[in-house]
Amino acid sequence: MSVKCIKDYIKNINIVIGCNIGCSYCYARMNNNRFHTIDDFNNPVFFENKLKMLDNKKYGAYLLTGQSDLSGWTEEWKNKVFSKMKENKYTQYIFLTKKPENIKLKETPDNGWFGVTVTSSKEKTRIDYLRNNIKSKNYHITFEPIFEDVGKLDLTDISWIVIGTETGNRKGKIPSEREWIFNIYNQAKEKNIPVFMKEDLIGILNEDEFVQEFPKEFGGIK
Ligand code: SF4
Repeated sequence: MSVKCIKDYIKNINIVIGCNIGCSYCYARMNNNRFHTIDDFNNPVFFENKLKMLDNKKYGAYLLTGQSDLSGWTEEWKNKVFSKMKENKYTQYIFLTKKPENIKLKETPDNGWFGVTVTSSKEKTRIDYLRNNIKSKNYHITFEPIFEDVGKLDLTDISWIVIGTETGNRKGKIPSEREWIFNIYNQAKEKNIPVFMKEDLIGILNEDEFVQEFPKEFGGIK
C-alpha cells in the first residue's frame, strides 16, 4: 500500500486557537509564536466567523481541536459548535483532549467523535475519564506521541485508534518504538477497532506494515 497522509482525508478547522496545558512538544504553540495568530497562546480564542466552515452536507470528517484542547473551550463555544454539527449530520467532527477530567458533557451530537491523547502508561486514566465524563456515541484514542510501552489497554467502547510518533526537532525527542506501536495495534485488532498509523511512522515501520483505517461513519474516506 502507499502510505496516506491523514490531513489529506481529515481537514483541520481551527475554530479555537490557544491552550494552556503546556505540552513541551506543542506544534500549535510553535505555530502561533511564528505567525502570531493570537496574542497569548495560553488564552484560547474562539473564531466565530469560522462556524460556517463546519457546513458540509456530504460525508467526511473534520478535526476541530488541531490548535486547542477541548477542555479549554467555554460552554458557549461548545454549544455553538454542537448546534452547527447537528445541522450537518452526515459530517463527523473530531475533538481531542488531554484533560477529560475537566470536562462534563451529558449530551453530545451523534456525529461528534470525542477522544483523548495517551502518551504514556500513567495517562491511560484519561480513557476512563473520557468514558465517564463525556456522553458520546463515538470515542477514540490518539497515541501520539508515545513515550513508552503503554501496556494493557481497556478499549471498551473505543471506535477508532490513531498511532503516531513525536515530530519536530525538540531536544530530547523520543521516537515511537515498533513494539509500542504493535502492542496498541494488536489490542485494537482483538476488538476489531479501526487503526490509523500516521505517515510520521515512515522510517519506524516498513511501508507494508502500515494499517490506515477510518471508521465507517467517515464514509467517503477510503
Ligand atoms: S494539549 Fe495540544 S494544544 Fe494544548 S499544549 Fe498540548 S499539544 Fe498544545
